[in-house]
Amino acid sequence: MTAVPVVIGVRADAAPRRQGDASGALVDTFGRVHRDLRISLTDRCSLRCTYCMPEQGNEWLARSSILTVDEIVEVARVAAAAGITTFRLTGGEPLLRTDIVDVVRRLASLAGPDGRPVELAMTTNGIRLGDVLPDLMAAGLRRVNISIDTLRRDRFHELTRRDRLPEVLQGIAAAAASGLSPLKLNAVAMRDVNDDELVDLVAFAIAHDAQLRFIEQMPLDAGHTWDRARMVTRDEILATLSTRWDLTAVPGRGGAPAERWTLDGGPHTVGIIASVTAPFCGDCDRLRLTADGQLRNCLFSTTEYDLLPTLRAPHADGDIDRMLRACVRGKLPGHAINDPSFLQPARGMNAIGG
Ligand code: SAM
Ligand code: SF4
Repeated sequence: MTAVPVVIGVRADAAPRRQGDASGALVDTFGRVHRDLRISLTDRCSLRCTYCMPEQGNEWLARSSILTVDEIVEVARVAAAAGITTFRLTGGEPLLRTDIVDVVRRLASLAGPDGRPVELAMTTNGIRLGDVLPDLMAAGLRRVNISIDTLRRDRFHELTRRDRLPEVLQGIAAAAASGLSPLKLNAVAMRDVNDDELVDLVAFAIAHDAQLRFIEQMPLDAGHTWDRARMVTRDEILATLSTRWDLTAVPGRGGAPAERWTLDGGPHTVGIIASVTAPFCGDCDRLRLTADGQLRNCLFSTTEYDLLPTLRAPHADGDIDRMLRACVRGKLPGHAINDPSFLQPARGMNAIGG
């Protein structure tokens, strides 16, 4: 039998299968159906995580280019009509938007062509979450992911350059008490930074009835300081967790970025998002909208589809729909982090939306 080369998570003999439809679902040239739109609400943040943003010298997006609620809802409405079923609000820090409850309320009222309401989720650093969560839930927020890389206050201060761990812990406690489910906690695993806390972080998540998801560090920091040798790999994370729990792989991952394992037979699970050492590009169903109106088909894409001129001039629905489809058609089979020719995108993670 002849071996089929695998190109970054997609079988090379699988492409191309289908062109994106002129109407109907958002299908790319490799047959991937897109159902998830990540909406970045701002590039600004209350923290300065070293793997995401530099302490100083950030070139913020021009305030005049940041999408208004009306503009965000307009894009989302067209996306929902084209088959996007899940919207995840992110940033930067989405809770810095003073109009966040309004954004949630208006997006949560959207429905797909089948009349089903869209699902609205948020990724946040947790600061302020305790204060606004009741209003966000009343407005229609259904799921929340909170990022926490360490449980030690001094380490948190060093890693995020802000002494705000107690506020993050309050946010997590509020989310755990709220009944929003599943509650997910995200942690970027880093060598000699928090790799001695992997077990503690999982135990903390279990105590909050949450699922910890470790993320392999990716070359997306605005300071361009990523170093492969310093990232902790999926296999290393599994080896460490195996010293404490019996891990059993959970089948049926679908398009989800995280692989999951039950801990000692369940019900609790742990997830790993191994974008670097085990990319899942072949099942990717995500698109991204940046806070300044750029559509992106991949975290690592160096091409953007600028919706701003269309949104800010007289236009028809079809114009945004066409841009969405062009973005989907332009999607490559996978990212090229592991390729020597890999070029880090100009935007940092805070300006793309994680
Ligand atoms: N501020 C919010 C937060 O931290 O949850 C939302 C935006 S943040 C960019 C979204 C996620 O991206 C966080 O879980 C963060 O840990 C992750 N992230 C940021 N930079 C990363 C990098 N270089 N590699 C891996 N994950 C990263
Ligand atoms: Fe802010 Fe999130 Fe980036 Fe940390 S990871 S600096 S909390 S946007």
